[in-house]
Amino acid sequence: MNISSEQEMIKCGRDFADTLKPRENEAIVIELVGDVGAGKTTFVRGLAEGLGVKEAVTSPSFTISKTYARPGGSLVHYDFYRLNEPGLMSEDLEEKIANPKNIIVLEWSESVQDILPENHIKITINYNDDDTREVNYENIS
Ligand code: ADP
Ligand code: MG
Repeated sequence: MNISSEQEMIKCGRDFADTLKPRENEAIVIELVGDVGAGKTTFVRGLAEGLGVKEAVTSPSFTISKTYARPGGSLVHYDFYRLNEPGLMSEDLEEKIANPKNIIVLEWSESVQDILPENHIKITINYNDDDTREVNYENIS
């Protein structure tokens, strides 16, 4: 799938939200992988829209995490950019993962790999030379 504008990336996130089936006993964890400027946060804007979040999503680079209310639970957005040692944030993430009502989306999640449930979704966004983006979905289990 080739995505050639910000609006298309938002739509991609929105459409992806529709594919998420609520899980009874487990939070849904989504890793977003891609370079700076690939469109990870833009994708989350669409995902949030699709999940019924009313608030506007902004990058959590400075706060590391942001939680948004959605019908049926929360969307929790983390950005661990340049955080080599997650420290207390890893406890925070563990708590969020323990709540089955949370949908958790992570940017730059290398440093918290050990905490992620085995069963999660990995979305890779590739930034092409012609400025288009490709989005690939994987179920990790
Ligand atoms: P990341 O979170 O991966 O660092 P952002 O989503 O914050 O990236 O930023 C992507 C930037 O690229 C935004 O300014 C967005 O407007 C721009 N952009 C241009 N074309 C696209 C596209 N096809 N998909 C996503 N973002 C795009
Ligand atoms: Mg970002």
